[in-house]
Amino acid sequence: MINKSIELFERAQRSIPGGVNSPVRAFKSVGGTPVFIKKAKGAYLFDADDNQYIDFIASWGPMILGHAHEPVVKAIQEKAIHSTSFGAPTELEIDMAELIISMAPNVDQIRMVSSGTEACMSAVRLARGFTGKNKIIKFEGNYHGHADAFLVKAGSGVASFNIQNVPGITAGVSNDTLTAPYNNLEAVKQLIEENQSEIAAIIIEPVAGNMGCILPQPGFLEGLRKLCDEQNIVFIFDEVMTGFRLGAGGAQEKLNIAADLVTYGKVIGGGMPVGAFGGKKEIMQHIAPVGNVYQAGTLSGNPIAMIAGYTLLNELKNNPAIYDELEAKTNYLGEGIKRVLSKKGINFRVNQIGSMISLHFCNHAIIDFESASKANIPLFNKLFHHLLKNGIYLPPSAYESWFLNNALSYEDLDKTITAIDSFDQY
Ligand SMILES: *Cc1c(COP(=O)(O)O)cnc(C)c1O
Repeated sequence: MINKSIELFERAQRSIPGGVNSPVRAFKSVGGTPVFIKKAKGAYLFDADDNQYIDFIASWGPMILGHAHEPVVKAIQEKAIHSTSFGAPTELEIDMAELIISMAPNVDQIRMVSSGTEACMSAVRLARGFTGKNKIIKFEGNYHGHADAFLVKAGSGVASFNIQNVPGITAGVSNDTLTAPYNNLEAVKQLIEENQSEIAAIIIEPVAGNMGCILPQPGFLEGLRKLCDEQNIVFIFDEVMTGFRLGAGGAQEKLNIAADLVTYGKVIGGGMPVGAFGGKKEIMQHIAPVGNVYQAGTLSGNPIAMIAGYTLLNELKNNPAIYDELEAKTNYLGEGIKRVLSKKGINFRVNQIGSMISLHFCNHAIIDFESASKANIPLFNKLFHHLLKNGIYLPPSAYESWFLNNALSYEDLDKTITAIDSFDQY
């Protein structure tokens, strides 16, 4: 029974567009009524009707050690007593910067912001200011937040990049964003050739998590790195999802590729609104007040947000076994899913790295947006609702990675596998 959620969703739609403050929460792609969450603890969410769910979203990543993680909650409480914002520098911001620099490879300096969107848009501005060039290359199906420059899609191929296809975004902005299919180095080479000396940055999700969990194919990131070096292009890793999730050093460390600039969000704030962008000192020194690339934020480095993130990151740094445990749990889930679905004779693919995993109903490899969209989306949506009814909360879209949190027990994973086993595909 989700009667209260149904009631709340109706009420929400009167005062909030679509009833939600971020579109994917509305369940548009899977259909049905979104459940309204009242509270959460560890691996479990509780909705307005007191139903309990095993959580595979972890607030899209931040709750990597489970909800209401005690050290984080306690740190927030203790900090809040001394005021929630000053608009002046604090020692805690230095501690946070030093901690991030000690964990993340190739980050000499870091600037805190309040969301992943802000981090990515600021990194691109900085790359433009640093190189004196205007255009950027992004990949189809990669999400870098909702800033204008990132909402441009290629439509049906690299040739159509100048078509304005998101209302509200000017043709001028669209023209400066070029797009290529993920895992397609040749397409990037072609774009660079057609736009000689005009590309300021290539921005990429080093593991794509916004169209499922899609891994870079061998040589792809290496090839991009080489192109960036040859063409004086700033290579930006958007690690908003992968940062502090794939390991303490994120995708850079896990995949052993160096980025020039890196953006963070999600895990970095421990559940508070935090983002950050950092990288080589040579580039970072171009930001105001040292340089002339302007970037600012009234609540940037906010003490409550910083102490939440600092407490979480510190635990991740000091206990690297967490990442092995997370990966072992994710492997276990993946193997279980493969076992029960193979028995049913359903075509499927499981993509996985570290604690990110996705399930696609198809008989082909999922390597980019096109292959992801050719999977059986209605069947995924059916599985989503089957699991929701069984108290298991997946991301409400076939185009999302699932995020495991370390509060999940093997019993929770067994329950999930059993629920998938009881799925009737017909
Ligand atoms: C979530 C996400 C963003 C945007 O972060 P917000 O905090 O929602 O603005 C950017 N890039 C990636 C890869 C993301 O997953």
